[in-house]
This record gives sequence, structure tokens and C-alpha cells, in this order.
Amino acid sequence: MSSTVWMDVEWEAMTTPVSAKFLAPMGQEGQRLVTRLKAEFERIEALMSSYRNSSEVSILNQTAAQTPVAVSRELIQLLLTANEISRISAGAFDITYASVGRFYDYRKKQAPSEAQIDGALPAIDYRHIRVDPQSRQISYAHEGVYVDLGGIAKGYAVDRAVELLKNAAVQQGIISAGGDTRLLGDKSGSPWMVAIKNPRSVSGNAEDSNVALLPLVDTAISTSGDYERYFVRGDERIHHIIAPETGKPVKGVQSVSVIGPEATMTDGLSTAVFVMGRKKGLAMIEELAGYEAVIIDDQRRMHFSSGLMNPEQ
Ligand code: ADP
Ligand code: MG
Repeated sequence: MSSTVWMDVEWEAMTTPVSAKFLAPMGQEGQRLVTRLKAEFERIEALMSSYRNSSEVSILNQTAAQTPVAVSRELIQLLLTANEISRISAGAFDITYASVGRFYDYRKKQAPSEAQIDGALPAIDYRHIRVDPQSRQISYAHEGVYVDLGGIAKGYAVDRAVELLKNAAVQQGIISAGGDTRLLGDKSGSPWMVAIKNPRSVSGNAEDSNVALLPLVDTAISTSGDYERYFVRGDERIHHIIAPETGKPVKGVQSVSVIGPEATMTDGLSTAVFVMGRKKGLAMIEELAGYEAVIIDDQRRMHFSSGLMNPEQ
């Protein structure tokens, strides 16, 4: 039997902390895989970031309302997946949220005016994104449509990273990008323990920083929270998850975690459930085979989908 070594690295990509821990063959292979993981995140960011003018998504945003734009097979596929999540969430997840969402600047503590929201709101509708898989062309069927993949791209990158490890015959590992995590196998015979953060942790200390630890194997988990990017105005928390119907931050829950086979889906679905709220969000998850959810509402109560409940209770 050849010997193995745990690789454990952290870096920043997609403006978020990324971490990877995996069991690699002894020797140079582990380090080579780390280099390839970093390159993969960089590749996806260059393709999909709406902050980079040269990305395919930015080129779409600049031109697809005027003329159809040919894009990579990979982006076509992710746009189709995003639209599928929009469909199953009745529009709660909608990557055109950014038609209004782009006017929020959380660092500068700026929100759009009511007039600005009203003017841009008709551009929010995932059905404005027309995908022609044959010609691989995208067009926007409305003026002012602006797409941002922030609700799904990190999960996608995590899935790609795990595929890369699998193809290199790695059998155990964990990869996280911000709130999106995927587990490959278990951790030397035990489950991986994945924390759900306390959305209102004040100290940052271990005692109040987590509210639950979930033992998980070979699955993905994504958390969406109102504490990731926000500012406070009066008694309002202006955060980064936007209701497509209103163009404003969603109220009602503080955090949503979704567990399922792949991080692309759990990423999109955690954002969707956040927008839908506890009742509708849980109802959607109950309908989806293979998915579970944990919700922390605005009273700090925790709610679980039925697959996570103790049958004794
Ligand atoms: P993060 O991992 O950055 O916390 P989430 O999965 O919680 O991301 O998704 C939040 C991000 O999704 C926002 O920063 C924004 O880029 C995007 N987003 C916000 N509202 C929506 C929405 N209604 N539909 C799709 N994406 C959204
Ligand atoms: Mg998400």
C-alpha cells in the first residue's frame, strides 16, 4: 500500500476564504493538486465574476440585451442550472436579482432609492435570460437585465474542485468556499463535522460562534446568512440576499443551510430557501428527494426538514 499525507491549505478566491483538506499520495502529487485547485478557482472566477469586465458574465451584461452572445458550454450549463433552481423555487432564486442588486454597495453602506428600485425592478426575471443550447447563444429579452452568479458560483467552484480531486483518485477530503462546503468520503473512518454558525455571534469566540455541528459524509452543505455582507441603517439590516419581487433584502430568517449531493445545487437552494422563508422554503425542500435544510428564524429558533428529525421525537 502506498502511503498518504493530509494536505491542508487555505487561500482567498472569489473574494472569499477557501479551504481544502484532503488525503493525497505521499510525494509531490499533493502539492501539484493544491496548485491545480487554486488554478481552477481562478479560472471559474475569471469566467463568471461580474466584477471583472473581461468575464463572460460581464460581456453578457454589457451586450446581451442588444444582441445574442455566444458563450462557453460551461456557462450555458450553469445558466440552465440557475434557471432550473429559479423554476423549482418559483422565482425566489433569480440571478437577475442583480438588475437591482448591483445598486447596493455594502462597503460604502449605500442602498438604491425607491425610485431606482422601481425603475430597475421589471428587469428582474430569470425568464428574461434566453438560452439557445444549440448555437450556445444567450440573449436578454429586456433592457437593464444584469446577471450575477454570487448565489451559485462558489458552490459550482467547490464541485469542480472536488471533481478534480476525484479524478486524481483522492478519496477523502473537504473543500469550502465561504458558506459552501463539499465532503469527499469520510475523515479516516469518522464523519466530517460541519458547523452551522451562530448568525449573531458577538464575541467570535468558540463558545457562541456555532449553533450546531452536523456529522456528514460524502455530501454538500451550503449556508446562506444575513450576516455575511450587510450594513445597518436605523434598525434595518441591509444585507445581500435580495427578494426578486421587491428588490430589497429579505426579512424573516437569519440563516439557511441546505444539505444535498452537490454544492452547485445546495448553494442555489440555500439562497432560494432564504428568500422563500421558513414555511415555503421547507415545503420546497420536502418535495426534493435527497435534500435537507436547517433554518434559523429571526427569533433564533431552529427548524429542520423531516429527514434531519429524530424519529423518536
Ligand atoms: P454567500 O455564500 O456569499 O453568503 P449565498 O449563497 O448566501 O452567498 O448567496 C448570497 C449571494 O447570492 C449574494 O451575495 C448575491 O450575490 C446573490 N443573490 C442575492 N439574492 C439573490 C437571489 N434572490 N437569487 C439569486 N442570487 C441572489
Ligand atoms: Mg447560495
